[in-house]
This record gives sequence, structure tokens and C-alpha cells, in this order.
Amino acid sequence: MLVSEGDPEAKYTELETIGKGGFSTVCTAVDTATGEEVAIKKISLLQESSTDLCVNEIQVMRNGKNANLVNYLDSYLVDEELWLVMEYMDGGSLHDVIRETCMAEGEIAAVSRECLQGLDFLHSKQVIHRDIKSHNILLGLDGSVKLADFGLAAQLTPEQRKRRSAVGTTYWMAPEIFTRKPYGPKVDIWSFGIVGIEMVEGAPPYLRKTSATVRQLICTGGTPRLQNPRQQSAWLRDFLHCCLETDEDRRWSAQELLQHPFVTSAKPTSSLMPLIMAAQQALRSSRALSSPD
Ligand code: ATP
Repeated sequence: MLVSEGDPEAKYTELETIGKGGFSTVCTAVDTATGEEVAIKKISLLQESSTDLCVNEIQVMRNGKNANLVNYLDSYLVDEELWLVMEYMDGGSLHDVIRETCMAEGEIAAVSRECLQGLDFLHSKQVIHRDIKSHNILLGLDGSVKLADFGLAAQLTPEQRKRRSAVGTTYWMAPEIFTRKPYGPKVDIWSFGIVGIEMVEGAPPYLRKTSATVRQLICTGGTPRLQNPRQQSAWLRDFLHCCLETDEDRRWSAQELLQHPFVTSAKPTSSLMPLIMAAQQALRSSRALSSPD
């Protein structure tokens, strides 16, 4: 019931691989009927855990139509793969921008507003993303910013208002996940605070440490500090502090953070276009250098 009937290989042509994940390969393709460029994530169903991830991803994406979430288009079963067709984000990921450029505060604020709008929408539907990190924030060349990769998302219900399982990517995970407390949507806000630090410093805190040490530091180290806090405005520092409150109850919600002066003073998303283009250009050049043919 989750997937469409029919042959996607007839509906989509010119498939070209653009990336690989743990259980998946992502291609660009063209919809033969409309000429629209799409992204197809082909997920191998040979491992049981990947089937759960797929079902999750399709369910969240199907119910999650929002300007700040990568839009779901269709899905198919092809041999032992699930093909998830979605809108193609032609500006790469926020991780690319962080790696290749230096972001100004107005740009950090613009990305924050767009991501918080996406999180506010998910949280209003009682969905926790659980894997917010710069790799899972995709960009359009027009400056659009969208949350992606819903494989680890959790749907809360009136019977189950909190979750307990420890999932996510270590550096971005909230302290209450490691301490095995029941947790809610605020874990995404902590993770977004870590993305804020990535945008300022180029990497999440504790990057070079072992995963056991990182876990311990997140649980006991309090709110992670910026390396050179004086270089940032008081608004940006306060914004990060509100995201990275160790006490879940004192941590701000997405809705509250959208009213924070750092966010309300953000530039329009079109201001992100030069940054996204510069990152794409830098990536193209480094790829050309690494494969001169
Ligand atoms: P993991 O399996 O650990 O989640 P991942 O996030 O890298 O790893 P995928 O989500 O499969 O794996 O993505 C693989 C690559 O494809 C990434 O570089 C990602 O940015 C890119 N990608 C995924 N979805 C899209 C999309 N809709 N538009 C453009 N690029 C995309």
C-alpha cells in the first residue's frame, strides 16, 4: 500500500548517481512526462533494518508537505530495492557549504529560520526527526533550505508521548538520549544547536574525540562552548545557548526560537545563493583535481 504500481524505469530516465549512504544510493533522473529533474533514493531491502527505515521515511515524507521539508513525489519496489522519488535539491547540502565557505551571521540566521520552520512543522505533527545534522539539510541554488532524511524519525502518539531508544549521530545527539531518559521533540533543537556551532566553527564540538568520550562530554560537559565566543554577536551566542540548554524543559521550542531576535533579524533566503554557488564551484574544482580525466 505504500508504493506505486508501474515501472519507474519507464517513467524516469537519465539516471545518474550523485551520492551513496549506508544502505542507499541517490541518483538524479528526469521525469519523462514533465521534464522535471528529480532525485531517486534507491534503498536496498536486503537487510531487515533498512526495510523499517524505508517505511518510516515514506510515511513521514508523505504526510510532511512543507516548504522546508524535501518533498516526497513517489515510491516503487524494483527487485530488492525501494525507490524513493523526491524533489531534487540542486544546491547540495549545508555540510558542503560549511566545509567550503565561511558563513556570515545573517546567513546563519537565514538557515536557522528555515530549519526551525521545518522543525516547527514536524513537531506540530508530533514527529521527531532524530538525525538533524548539516548533512541532512539540503539546499537549492535559489537559496531554499529543507530538512531531509527521515529514516530515523519517530511519530509520537497520545499513548507514546516520549521515546527512549538511543538513535541519531553521536556528535549531534542530546544529553537526555545518552542518559536514557524518555525524550521528546526538543532533541532536534539540541541537534540544531550543534548545527549552529558547525555553521560558526566548521565542525561540531568534540569532533576529534572517540565516540565514548564524546558521549561522556555531552552528558557531563553542559552547554558546549564556542572556541572564540567574542567573535560572535551577543544575539548569536544567546540563540545557541537557548538551543543547547542541557535541561530539556528550559531548552526553547522551534516555535519560541522563531521569535528569537537572532532569527527575526535573518536575511532573506536569496542571500544564501552566492554562498551555495561558491560551495558547489569549490566542490566541482576539487573533484576535477582529484580525477583530471
Ligand atoms: P546515511 O545513509 O548515513 O543517511 P547519507 O545521508 O549520506 O548517509 P543519503 O541520504 O542516501 O545518505 O544521501 C546520499 C547523498 O545524496 C548525500 O550526499 C545527499 O546530500 C544526497 N541527496 C539525498 N537526497 C537528495 C535530494 N533530494 N536532492 C539532492 N541530493 C540528495
